[in-house]
Amino acid sequence: MILPINIYSDDILRKKAKPLKSIDSGVEELIGFMFESMRNASGIGLAAPQVGHSVRLVVLDISCLTHYPDEKPMVVINPHILAVRGYNDMEEGCLSLPGIHGDVERPAALTLKYRNENFEEMTGEFSGMLARVLQHEIDHLNGTLFVDRMEKRDRRKIQKELDALVSGTVQTQYPIVRESLTVLQS
Ligand SMILES: [Zn+2]
Repeated sequence: MILPINIYSDDILRKKAKPLKSIDSGVEELIGFMFESMRNASGIGLAAPQVGHSVRLVVLDISCLTHYPDEKPMVVINPHILAVRGYNDMEEGCLSLPGIHGDVERPAALTLKYRNENFEEMTGEFSGMLARVLQHEIDHLNGTLFVDRMEKRDRRKIQKELDALVSGTVQTQYPIVRESLTVLQS
């Protein structure tokens, strides 16, 4: 099932999501729907709050990118960043901020403790694109969007586009939650 994606002005994107205690059939189903919805929107990562579930669950799959055909899809539950190394700048976008892109500085590599799709505890070292996408998605679980991390000067340049998202005139190739936008306008 393709789930509609909550966009920028939606309150759920600003909440701190709750840890999952276990995986039941409902969570398994949600994971499947999240992969389907992410791929339908040509995304490489999706956090549960983006589809209306305020829980600490992320899916990602960067294998569609030119340089990463061998990367396996990942399910990341209750992630905890243990250490970070280095910094780099990269342009980011977000399915919850359609049409908006901007440079964000983040750690270049990280050590992550998390649970996988079988709820097994894992510890992994990530760098490059995976480190970038993981940090972007973990931010979603804490109510942070990439535009919050942009330099103020760069952020001012996209303010008009952000305002357009709030006013609800945005067009996307994938379904978005429009009800919340209507409420916001009234
Ligand atoms: Zn995002």
